[in-house]
Formats: sequence, structure tokens, C-alpha cells
Amino acid sequence: MIRYGLHLSIAGKEGRAGAVREAELLGLRAFQIYAKSPRTWKTRPLSPGETEDFRARRENLGAIPAVIHASPLVDLGARGDVWEKSVFSLADDLMKAQALGVGYVVVHPGSSDPERAREGALKARELAALGSNGPKLLLENTAGGKEHLGCDLRDLARLVEGTPLQVCFDTCHAFAAGYRLHEDPRGVLDALDEVIGLGRVPLIHLNDSRHDFASQKDQHANLLEGHIGPALADFLTDARLSGKVVILETPRSVQEDAHNLRVLREWLGE
Ligand SMILES: [Zn+2]
Repeated sequence: MIRYGLHLSIAGKEGRAGAVREAELLGLRAFQIYAKSPRTWKTRPLSPGETEDFRARRENLGAIPAVIHASPLVDLGARGDVWEKSVFSLADDLMKAQALGVGYVVVHPGSSDPERAREGALKARELAALGSNGPKLLLENTAGGKEHLGCDLRDLARLVEGTPLQVCFDTCHAFAAGYRLHEDPRGVLDALDEVIGLGRVPLIHLNDSRHDFASQKDQHANLLEGHIGPALADFLTDARLSGKVVILETPRSVQEDAHNLRVLREWLGE
């Protein structure tokens, strides 16, 4: 069974625990959040009350899978100051995930230098001192352009090879990077399985694309409203993806949530 959900906001006054309430209201079977504001490097510790609230509410929902998306400021391939800030920020997310009982932390591999990116990801895990039941750290494929690492699945495979790192596959990014999801969704899944191995891909970001095939542009569209279109249904319903966690990072409003969840549930035959 596919466990699906949305990327939810933590901006309300209940913070991270408020996201669990929203997941319940929307009838989600999984959800994703930022662990802190995505616009600043600043971070503050979780309060014991919030941690307890988050855990208790999620437990009430049957402990549905939860994901933390690393800050978009993080660039593990950068040099100097930004690299250090990135590693600390990611370690902070991993520690918060561990405290909240969140199973996955997902990060974009960053720019320019693959060796530094891999070293940064491993360093963040080490700094977070993850227990054996700690969160998994996932590197996400990117749309490419401007030295973004990880748009070619073979490069992503090299980044995670021989490490405990896993992979998140984003359909919008793959399409933007030149994977023919609009014409051959199952073929793209074959490639993902062959190059990375689906056992190493617990999480799918299911997004349509506002830009055309191979545009290298990362702008997500609502389901059926982008350039990938209905072929995403064939991708999603391939038996090889059963058991995966699927998160939509589509634009958000009451109407858009209703539209995307309606389409998704229809595709899943619910
Ligand atoms: Zn994504």
C-alpha cells in the first residue's frame, strides 16, 4: 500500500505538532515538514512540550510515516563557511528527526563538488550521533542546471554507493533533468531500479512540472496540470512502488489540496 501525503507548513502557532493535526484533517497517510524556517540559518531547540505533542498526535494517527525536508539553504557541495553551516543545519535536522521519531530526512546534494557533498552528508550523520533506530538520510535527485549535483541518476548512485545514505526520487526534477516520464513512466522506473535499486528508494516526491521536458527548471505543478500529465498515474501505480512513501510538494491552497488529493486517490483506486 502506498502511504501518501503532502508537504505541510509548521508556520502556525502549534508549530510542528500543528502539522500532525493538519495531516489528520486532510486524511493523509504520511506527511513532510521543514524542521525549521527554510529562510534562515537560525535554529532553536525543540521544546519538550512540542516534542511530546508531536509524538502523541502522530501515535494517535497510527504512527504514519513522517519526513523532514532539509532547509533549501543547505549546500553540501559548497566551500568554506556555507559548507560548515550546511553540515550543522543538516545535523540539526537529523537530531530533530530523531527526537520527534521522524523516519526520514531528505536533502538535495548541493552544487559543484560531489566528494564534498558526500563527505558533508556523512559528517552530518556523524554529528547527529544517530542511534540504530535513527532517521534515514536521503539524497534527492535534482532538476540539474547550474552545477546542481544529482540530476543524473548515475551520479546520485555514485554519491550513495558504499554509504548508509538512501535516495528520494522526485518526478518533477527527473522530468526536468531529461527522464521521459511523460512518455515512458515505467521505463524511468526501470532505470531507477537498475541504477539505484528500488530497495534504496523509500520515498517518492510526486510532482508535475510547470516547465517542459528537459528544461532543467524546478517548478512543481499540480497533478494533471503540468507537462508530465496523466503518465504520472502509470508511474505511481506500478506494483514496484507499493509500500513506498509518496509526498506531494504541489502548490498549496484549499482548492489545490482538494484537487491534488482527489486525483491521487482516484489514481490509487480509493
Ligand atoms: Zn522534491
